[in-house]
Amino acid sequence: MKRILLISTGGTIASVEGAEGLAPGMQADAILSYVPELRRGYDVSTLPLFSIDSSNMRPEHWLRIARAIQDNYDDYDGFVVMHGTDTMAYTAAALSYLCLYLAKPVVLTGAQQPIERTATDGTRNLIDSFAVAADPGSRGVMIVFNGHVIAGTRARKTRSKSYNAFSSIDFPDLAVVRGGRVVRYIATGDAPSVPIFSHALEGRIFPLKLVPGMSPHVFDELIDDFDAIILESFGVGGIPMYPDDSGDDAFARAIERWTQAGKIVVVTTQVPHEGSDMAIYQVGLHIRDRRGVIVAYDMTFESIYTKLMWILAQTRDPARVERLFHTPINHDLVDLG
Ligand code: ASP
Repeated sequence: MKRILLISTGGTIASVEGAEGLAPGMQADAILSYVPELRRGYDVSTLPLFSIDSSNMRPEHWLRIARAIQDNYDDYDGFVVMHGTDTMAYTAAALSYLCLYLAKPVVLTGAQQPIERTATDGTRNLIDSFAVAADPGSRGVMIVFNGHVIAGTRARKTRSKSYNAFSSIDFPDLAVVRGGRVVRYIATGDAPSVPIFSHALEGRIFPLKLVPGMSPHVFDELIDDFDAIILESFGVGGIPMYPDDSGDDAFARAIERWTQAGKIVVVTTQVPHEGSDMAIYQVGLHIRDRRGVIVAYDMTFESIYTKLMWILAQTRDPARVERLFHTPINHDLVDLG
């Protein structure tokens, strides 16, 4: 029998109805008791790590989950982490960077309805997750939800209420689970031999969504308090191009003040699909060619944010940051323009 470690962190799957609304109230053992066939099919151990709504999940929690996987890595064939759906995509991305070269699967799952409700999707998600965690072709970090097996760097919560809550953004599902069987679309390569776990995430990172008419002064307002900006540009990488009072390119100058201070500016797009490429339009090129910004291409926002924190814990040297950022990990970067 495959040995699976079931880790609980809270979320709706673990929630119970209280006077103040749904809140996590069950740990891994209690949740497992709702799906008794799992104990019959697998050698399951449980690890209650914390019991929080995923809106309260912070980088220190990601580090603790990674540590729990490292501490138990040799003793299990696979790991299933139950997690709230709201920020599960961030945790999956963070774990993809914190747990590198895994030869074993780490599956995140949860539910849109608590396990104690008749209409729960938690039962199916757990059964599917165990099937994926025990499948010989599975390795690395992924989300299993509503039959979809999504690479940890490619997931986004795209529905707030329906059972099909997660989508794989600009990348195919790794596999699907049909009737408890794993049907694999993306072949996993050879198993790496030695995993590498990281224990630090750093950096004060500000997500800045451009809106028409936004003042470039916002960059100056933020510069003392943040190490990096993730700029959600228009279209494939459009950033306004108009002169300031002295006739200079106002946004380019404001961004240059950041890069000259050794801070990081990553340009992504606010368009939900297909990523950024600043080499196409004048409104992209005026920034890309002269200002030392990093283009995010087709990475998801969740991956950009967590990858930057992982990198900034290792280096602040802008050239090294860019090199690491553009090194593909767990399918996070595919279309480099
Ligand atoms: N608020 C819950 C959470 O993210 C939602 C869920 O799990 O579906 O913890």
